[in-house]
Formats: sequence, C-alpha cells, structure tokens
Amino acid sequence: MLRIAIQTKGRLNEQSMELLREAGVTIKEEKRKFLMRAADFPVEILFLRDDDIPQTVSMGAADLGIVGYNEVAERGFEVDVLKKLGFGGCRISLAIPKTEKYDGLSYFNGKRIATSYPNVLQKYFEENGITAQIHNITGSVEIAPAAGLADAIFDIVSSGGTLISNGLVEVEQVLHSEAVLIGTPGLNEEKMAVARQLMSRFESVIKGVGKKYLLLNLPVSALDEAVSILPAMRSPTVIPLAQKDWCSMQTVVDEKVLWSTIEKLKAIGAEDILVLALEKIVL
Ligand code: ATP
Ligand code: MG
Repeated sequence: MLRIAIQTKGRLNEQSMELLREAGVTIKEEKRKFLMRAADFPVEILFLRDDDIPQTVSMGAADLGIVGYNEVAERGFEVDVLKKLGFGGCRISLAIPKTEKYDGLSYFNGKRIATSYPNVLQKYFEENGITAQIHNITGSVEIAPAAGLADAIFDIVSSGGTLISNGLVEVEQVLHSEAVLIGTPGLNEEKMAVARQLMSRFESVIKGVGKKYLLLNLPVSALDEAVSILPAMRSPTVIPLAQKDWCSMQTVVDEKVLWSTIEKLKAIGAEDILVLALEKIVL
C-alpha cells in the first residue's frame, strides 16, 4: 500500500486534501487519526507537521509527500521532487529595515540575520561570497530587527503585508517555492505504478484549475476569425446549427483571458455565450 504524507493542519493541509479528493482519493473525516486508509484508492494518508515530511519520505516511512519546496530545500534530505502542484506559492527573501539604504548583496557582510531557513541562506551567501552571522530562530522572525536581535531577516513572503507592518522592505528574493509532490528515491515498481497513476490524476486536476468551458453561437462567415481568437486544446469544436449559416462552437479558455476573449467574440457576431465550470482535463 502506498503511503502519502501531508500536513496535519496549516496552510497546505486544505489544498493537499482537496487535490487528493479531486484525484479520487478520499477519507472518511469523522474521526481523524494520524494514519488513514483511503476509501477508494490503494493509498494511506499520514498526517505530519510539514517539518517532518522530507525526512519521513527520505527514509521511506512514507512513499510520497506533499510539502512546500522551501522545506525540501532547507532540510536537505534526499528525496525525488516528482511534481509541482500549483498551490502554496511563496518566496523566501532577505528583508531589511526600511530606513536602511540598500546598495546590493554586500550590504549583508558582517550583518546578523534572523531566519528559520539557515541552510538555504548559508548556501546562498556562500555562492555569492557573503560572510554574515546567521541566527536560527523558530517563530516570529519578522520582529527580530525591531527587537534588536538582528539587522535583517530571511523569511517567507507571500503578499508582503507582514514585512510592511514590521517596517521592513524586501531586498532580495532568494528561493521561489510552491507545494511539491516528493517521493522516496528508488520506489519499487509496484508502488511506482500507483504513484504514476496518482500523478496523472493530479495533472488532470491541476490542468483544469483556472479554466472555463465556453459555448457560443456564431455566423459561419465569422468562423475563421473566431478560430484565430480562441485558444483551444487542439482546435475548437464546431457544430452546425439547424438555422442555416450559423454554427455552435465549444472550447476551453483560461480564466485570465475569459472576458477579453468573450468581448472579441461578441465583436465579430457571437451570441448566446455560455461559460461553464470545468472540473478536470484528462489528456
Ligand atoms: P506545521 O505545524 O505543519 O509545522 P508551519 O507553521 O511550519 O506548519 P505553515 O505556516 O502551515 O507551516 O506553512 C506551510 C507552508 O505553506 C510553508 O512551508 C510554505 O511552503 C507555504 N506558504 C505559502 N504561503 C506562505 C506564507 N505566507 N507564510 C508561510 N508559509 C507559506
Ligand atoms: Mg513547520
């Protein structure tokens, strides 16, 4: 049985559970135990603190894990990064008090820097020839400069709001991270087969995120122009309508360009435009 480790609670828990659910791996939530068997797929889910997931997978106590890439990079355990999962995006950045003048990386020479990611920072400084004192702090790193514990911080940033409210400014983005699927190196063929099946389901779910299904009616004379406007997986489906000289088109559109696409289509005579939710794309 394949065992997959995910975060018990915290920022990645909900989306990890959702991804698994969308991929057809569900558990009965009544009483959550630390290890649960999926109802409909040969998988067990192990709930852990995110700090422990890379080591657990590296040791083979879980075969797969869903964790932020930042944790994988910091912990340094040997795991295979199998797939980016498209959620939990953030970056680890260097930030300094906004009253300071920043003139490039050499600013950090001789400075004290508070972080929960000492290994990632050490590596970055070594690569860039910087010598600084790295202070490993677990907990609220962002208050360290105001408390006089450090000159700068190296911490996770997503919106940047926490930095601003602590009088800090981001000066270097060092590591970009998102949730990733990791695996024990050298999984046996039986487990790898289940892992591959799961990854292909994940792929379908991830591909469907942010996509809409578009249906519309169009004069046949505007068809060529519509095809050039519409992004499609191969090319849009075109079906004749009972009404002569009209046709119906169907295609998949990225949500980001949905409104601009609709406006362009209307401008060339499209009518009866329907936008439908799209769940999964299986290629
Ligand atoms: P645990 O109790 O499991 O140890 P945690 O407190 O260490 O949890 P969370 O704050 O739940 O961790 O964050 C989990 C992961 O979410 C991070 O390691 C990172 O990959 C990702 N993440 C995305 N955005 C942010 C953010 N703004 N702040 C912190 N983590 C973020
Ligand atoms: Mg943690």
